[in-house]
Amino acid sequence: MAEARSWSFGGALRNLFTGQQKRVIDEDTWDELEVALIGADFGPDITESVIAELKEKVARYRTEDYADLQRMLREGLEERLSKFDTTLKLTERPAVVLVVGVNGVGKTTTIGKFAKFLTNYGRSVVVGAADTFRAAAVEQLGTWAERAGVQIVKPQQQGQDPASVAYQTVDFAKRNGVEIVIIDTAGRLHTKGGLMDELGKIKRVVEKQAPIAEVLLVLDATTGQNGLMQAQAFLESAGVTGLVLTKLDGSAKGGFVLAVQERTGIPIKLVGQGEGIGDLTGFTPHVFAQQLVG
Ligand code: GDP
Repeated sequence: MAEARSWSFGGALRNLFTGQQKRVIDEDTWDELEVALIGADFGPDITESVIAELKEKVARYRTEDYADLQRMLREGLEERLSKFDTTLKLTERPAVVLVVGVNGVGKTTTIGKFAKFLTNYGRSVVVGAADTFRAAAVEQLGTWAERAGVQIVKPQQQGQDPASVAYQTVDFAKRNGVEIVIIDTAGRLHTKGGLMDELGKIKRVVEKQAPIAEVLLVLDATTGQNGLMQAQAFLESAGVTGLVLTKLDGSAKGGFVLAVQERTGIPIKLVGQGEGIGDLTGFTPHVFAQQLVG
């Protein structure tokens, strides 16, 4: 898995320690840390528990040193982030990956980047355009497939049963020895019930052909709690096995990463950090904690 390269988020928390090497830990420290953690999107509960853990460690090691505080915070966050198995499970042949999420979160872009990511590792990939109601979605996915240099299975006509496109994609992979199948799905939330039925049908049809290796839920890291609430329907009914956080560049605050993993109990498996085809990496808690805290 690729090492995460340096990210642009996390400034608020890192800045807390910049130029503070000579400072000692005092009452203000905890208030400042609380403001920084909330500001970085950790949410109140996690902020409280992170501070409680840190206070306990500071007392146990009887330190007043700011550098110790920074190190303990970094190690504590890494430990919490590492409690989840963030590796993609793609050993089946073919390995079928369903990609789900609300429109606009970066689902199509993620599929394009993911296809490229996998081909970079020597894997053969086919993508299936099972969001069949939006002609533009099929077209956009086609553009990404071309960029990534992978095959695409498209609906024969607009509105074709998404499950039949998924079927044809897996069938294509089996007949042609393609290793990994990535299936795009619809993300129209106003038809929530229908959408979950549609996903259920795709899964049933696909499972008759091959086991489903991963169901990846794409979330926009800049939307924080709102985004999580929007995605709740998928979490409840789509059998999600992994999260993909997109837009973890620019204005994303980083703390959401820990919050989302602990709140959903589902590991983050991929991270998008830009609009380019190379802007996707695996999730590495060590690099992440380093970026957040410095
Ligand atoms: P979909 O409706 O979920 O398929 O979303 P799209 O893939 O069409 O992406 C929506 C917008 O988000 C597009 O403008 C993408 O370029 C942008 N986008 C997707 N992923 C990222 C990312 O990791 N970083 C940034 N900055 N933009 C992204």
